[in-house]
Amino acid sequence: MPEFKTPRGMRDFLPKEAAAMKYVEGITRELAMLYGFQEIITPIMESYELLTAKSGEEIRQRMYAFEDLGGRKMGLRPEFTASVARLMATSLRNKPKPIRLFCFGSLYRYDEPQLGRYREFWQSNFETIGSSRPETDVEIIALTNDLFQKVGLRNYWFKIGHVGIIRGILGMEGVKEEDQNRIMQLLDKNLWDDALAVAKALNVSEKCLATLKKVFGIKGEDSDKIIKEVKAAVKNYEKAVSAAENLEEILQLLRGSGVKFDMSIEAGFARGLEYYTGIVFEVSVPELDVSLAGGGRYDRLIELFGGEPTPAVGIAHGIDRITLSMEKQGIQPKIETGRQVMIIFIGDKLKSEALKIASILRSAGIPVELEVMGRAVARALQDADRRGIKHAIILGPKEMEKQEVILRDMTKREQHATKIQNLLKEIEAKRKT
Ligand code: AMP
Repeated sequence: MPEFKTPRGMRDFLPKEAAAMKYVEGITRELAMLYGFQEIITPIMESYELLTAKSGEEIRQRMYAFEDLGGRKMGLRPEFTASVARLMATSLRNKPKPIRLFCFGSLYRYDEPQLGRYREFWQSNFETIGSSRPETDVEIIALTNDLFQKVGLRNYWFKIGHVGIIRGILGMEGVKEEDQNRIMQLLDKNLWDDALAVAKALNVSEKCLATLKKVFGIKGEDSDKIIKEVKAAVKNYEKAVSAAENLEEILQLLRGSGVKFDMSIEAGFARGLEYYTGIVFEVSVPELDVSLAGGGRYDRLIELFGGEPTPAVGIAHGIDRITLSMEKQGIQPKIETGRQVMIIFIGDKLKSEALKIASILRSAGIPVELEVMGRAVARALQDADRRGIKHAIILGPKEMEKQEVILRDMTKREQHATKIQNLLKEIEAKRKT
């Protein structure tokens, strides 16, 4: 037989790693509940056409695409938003707004594997659909900040921009949307000069080139100052000015709401996905050079999928990168191992009695492991110790004659005989102390 390996770029999550992921997942679920998001579960594969309709060249090239046995072209989902947009154009079309949707699951991209970049990864995804008001954007950002606070990450910062600023300039210069997308893709990779070269090749005015160059360079932490600079730089482009005003309103609301975090506001910041129309944001930590979360406003996407014109804003949190950052920052997730009781029996005759006691305890909600290796008591106790079990119950023929078992406290290394009928009460009392 060949030696089977985990597929390149994918990982197996052994219990400790799986528990760390589930811990972060639990926090995202708690936030979904606190902010009023309802979970939906959509298929891991969708039609290739849906997935490529608006995702951007980058994602298109990295998709796991294949033909199924019925000859349909399919793809493994590289993100959740296309599935959400499909639902908004169909089953959820006429539901009252706002609609707040939460998705959790795995995504697939044929990325070049590196630290924090995998071919299978997990996201929690939050989308608020139906409102274009800035308080919606603020809530998505606040929820994301809560997530980073709750997992205990330090020194994270938000990068915030607004694609309406650059698109506003280009649009008013008559640059077609496909060409705008090309420029935004280059900006996403911080290729400012290449972006300017593309704009120049499209015959935009000298004034436009000068404005773009100025805007690309505007960034900083002082939101009032940045907004003022942007407004001055784009004053001849009405649409870019209203984008700057929208960003200003969101930032002011954020400040007013008391949500605090480090941020860098960057006027030339764009994200790879083509569908963004408004504010865009990412979260990073110093330990990783890839972002931990990313999102933004996409007011026209749902309409492009055949739905009603519907504004929306959303964010995807990269669970793998969050757990990786926690590890790098030395943050231990609070993991409940559930290991409470081990039942050890001496001699095959007590096997059914052991199973019966295990069942009684489990019915009362106590986690029980049965000794199934046929080990002698001393070895079985050593094994229980290694596994971090709190109590051992030992069934021996002599005690059983009196309807008793031995209850051993593994931490204190003390034991005593107790009546089977009192066993449950005694363990429950010990669990409370
Ligand atoms: P995106 O959908 O590209 O906006 O990504 C949103 C978030 O998903 C990123 O900030 C990452 O945390 C995570 N993510 C994206 N691609 C990968 C990947 N290849 N491996 C791990 N996490 C990823």
